[in-house]
Amino acid sequence: ITVGELAQKCNKNSSEIIKILFMLGKMVTINSLLDDESVVLLCLEFNITPEKIDPIEEDSLADDDVDDEKDLVARPPIVTIMGHVDHGKTSLLDKIRSTKVAKGEAGGITQHISSYTVEKNGQKITFVDTPGHAAFSAMRTRGTAITDIIIIVVASDDGVKPQTEEVISHAKASGCPIIIAMNKIDKETANIDMVKAQMAEKGMTPMDWGGNTEFIGVSAKTGEGIEELLENILIQAELLELKADPHAKAKAAVIESSLEKGRGPVATVIVQNGTLRIGDNIVCDTTFGRVKAITDDNGNAVKELGLSETGTVLGLNDVPITGSVMVAMDTDKEARDIATTRAEHARAKELSKSTKVSLEEMSGLIAEGKIKQLPVII
Ligand code: GDP
Ligand code: MG
Repeated sequence: ITVGELAQKCNKNSSEIIKILFMLGKMVTINSLLDDESVVLLCLEFNITPEKIDPIEEDSLADDDVDDEKDLVARPPIVTIMGHVDHGKTSLLDKIRSTKVAKGEAGGITQHISSYTVEKNGQKITFVDTPGHAAFSAMRTRGTAITDIIIIVVASDDGVKPQTEEVISHAKASGCPIIIAMNKIDKETANIDMVKAQMAEKGMTPMDWGGNTEFIGVSAKTGEGIEELLENILIQAELLELKADPHAKAKAAVIESSLEKGRGPVATVIVQNGTLRIGDNIVCDTTFGRVKAITDDNGNAVKELGLSETGTVLGLNDVPITGSVMVAMDTDKEARDIATTRAEHARAKELSKSTKVSLEEMSGLIAEGKIKQLPVII
């Protein structure tokens, strides 16, 4: 709630509120969004009982559907591949895909896509190409921990680079299990011991050196080590006991989005809970709509996406931001209302950022004797 809105609701003058807060050391304007503490203090002052209204967060939307343990089933792990540029992330993803997906099924697999699901020993694994560091952090800060397992790719002929270090700290902060893929072992200049030593220095000690991080030598060129990598992912996944409810309200993370000619807003998603179906009323951050079409990771039109499955969704009224969460709602009105409320909230926040208390306002308060102390930061 902004100062102006609160003033209206409490039948007070905005300037009165601004003064009270100023004396509490808080500088606000009529457009500032108030934090919970300020609202409570002001309500005490005005003898009003505050009531907190659901801020419509993604989690609060889907949570009422997180049911009993008995509805939960095992879901495939979602694996993100990260690493320094040119160390072979994309090549590795393409190689895994081409060895696991029958030609023809994916229309020849010529184009690289950002996420897909493969099968190993009858178990599924969903892979995601590094969504860029910014996007990855955005997903984390929004609480959208889509990744279950992180693979850090290090070229064995090049070793640890600045971006590798950055990725290590991202990966550690995420709390996910980490597997190190030492890529390009087909090269004559490959030096696995060098990679291990450099990684150990960064706190990632290999198993065979007495640490607890799995290091696997792979080649995106020849395919060597890929089966071992997949087996390791499945072992890690089993330990995580990943579960979700296929009958819950669908909840899917947006990992990519764009505006396409003739198709409109397109969102690439990974289903985190429930089943996303054509016809679902959806809300996604400040956008909403109804699922018009779904394309799976092989480019085929499908009717639904299940747990940990990935595909593109058509039907939103606007392009959602990466890292936002798509949630299915019972009615289109609900979806629209939530999106609209969020958009208004976002606008209010933006507005409150762009305004500052003017010097005149402040000296006015000082002149009136309302301010005896001036909190400053030097
Ligand atoms: P990314 O930036 O991490 O996605 O790296 P790319 O997948 O684009 O690969 C960078 C370069 O390394 C390309 O020229 C690839 O052909 C090459 N490359 C990737 N993996 C291997 C590998 O296992 N062996 C060899 N010899 N070259 C590789
Ligand atoms: Mg790449």
